Formats: sequence, structure tokens, C-alpha cells
Amino acid sequence: MKKIISYTSIALSSMLLLSTSSFAETQVKEPTAHAIKHWGYTADVGPSHWGKLNTKFRMCSEGNTQSPINILPTSDIDLPALDLNYTTGSKSVINNGHTVQVNIEDGSVFNIEGMAYKLKQFHFHTPSENNINGASFPLEAHFVHATDDGKLAVVAVMFKEGDANPILTKVWKKLPTLEVGKAVSCGLSAKEVKALMPTDKDYYKFMGSLTTPPCSEEVKWHVFKTPLTISKAQIETFFKLYGHGNNRPVQATHKRIIEE
Ligand SMILES: [Zn+2]
Repeated sequence: MKKIISYTSIALSSMLLLSTSSFAETQVKEPTAHAIKHWGYTADVGPSHWGKLNTKFRMCSEGNTQSPINILPTSDIDLPALDLNYTTGSKSVINNGHTVQVNIEDGSVFNIEGMAYKLKQFHFHTPSENNINGASFPLEAHFVHATDDGKLAVVAVMFKEGDANPILTKVWKKLPTLEVGKAVSCGLSAKEVKALMPTDKDYYKFMGSLTTPPCSEEVKWHVFKTPLTISKAQIETFFKLYGHGNNRPVQATHKRIIEE
């Protein structure tokens, strides 16, 4: 349990503060032996190497409920509606060097079995990380929630190519001038945050992990079946930020239960 919590705190701090550490690292010419080696999506720091970059990342190669996955439902049950109570808007938007992340003001909660998972941030991957019945999407958003003792729950939204997304237009407007590691305000209301989820809230549910180092497991995943749309130009704007995709390839599902 202790191990999970410490991974989780690393995970959370890396998700929330990565910008600072990766930014600092690029300025250190000779990192000490104890420094966490920078990870990325290409070449020798890409996903297939994550588990070897640092002992703290070993779940990336040793875990057996890793994310993302190709979602092939194994059981059709009557899943309860997601109890999402989003009442706060954005605090800031940041390009942390791996993704664009919108941090949320305290107060929005996802209740799961009597426990409050607080919405911390949402961020994006292109192309999508999870696949649904073998299909990939051009963009996937992850809404990251955590309990006070560090348990994690993610709600994922797929985007397919179509009309421009008006909420993303507002966020994307900040991208061209967004300095890596520097948070700026992006002025999304609670209503706009909620509008980044489909009206049809049917979803898939399964256990998984963070899709970035340290790849901590015990993460509760919820993926909406219905995608929203994003324009081709919006996809390109995001892709150009990094010059490559920022999606981890799908991982083995092993004997995982995937409910719908
Ligand atoms: Zn993510």
C-alpha cells in the first residue's frame, strides 16, 4: 500500500509539476546519477525504454494491468451513471513538455462508491492512447482525479475528426505562445469543462495504469463510448507542438475485465 501511495505521489507531482522538473533538467548539462532520466515518446527515451530509465519507472515494463489498451468489452452489465460533480473551472493551462494540461480549481469531484475523487487536471494525447474495438482516434482527453490518499481515477474522452471543438478552440488559442513549463490562465468555466464530455455518457470501465512514467497501476479507468469532434486544423496544431505523437502504444490486457 505504501508503495502505491509513494508511486502515486510521484505520479501526481510528475503530472502536475513535470514542467518544472523537465525544464530544469534541460538546463543541467551533467545530471547526477540519481537524477530521473528524462522520458519521451521517441528514440532511446521512448515508451519501450521507460521501464529501464529509472527504477521508479519499473512498472512500465513489469506491470500487468498497464494502460492504454485496446478496449474489447468482456462483460455487458448495467454500469451506473458516472457521478461527476464538476463545479469549478480552469486554474491554468500548461505545456509541460509532454502534453497540454489544463489544471482545475479545487472543488470538482467524481464520486466512486462513496469516495471523493477530486478533479485535478485534464490533458491530451494524439493519436488516442486507448483504442475501442481496434479503432484509434485522432485525440484523447484524460480527466485525472485523485482521492486525498492518492487513489486515482481517469475519465477519458475520444475525439474524431469533424467540426472544430469550441472549448478546445479556447485552449488551443493559447498554444502558439505557450512557453514550456509556464502556466497561463485559460478561462474555462465549469460549464465549459463539463462540455468537454459527450452527452451520451455510456462508458467502458476497467483497471489500468498511468500511461506515462512511473506507469503506476490501480488506476480506475472510464472511457466514454461516444466521441466528440475536433477539426483537422486543431489536430494539426496540437501535433505540431511536439512534432510527433504523444501516445503510449496499447498494452497487453492479459485477463482484465472490461465492463460496459
Ligand atoms: Zn493521459
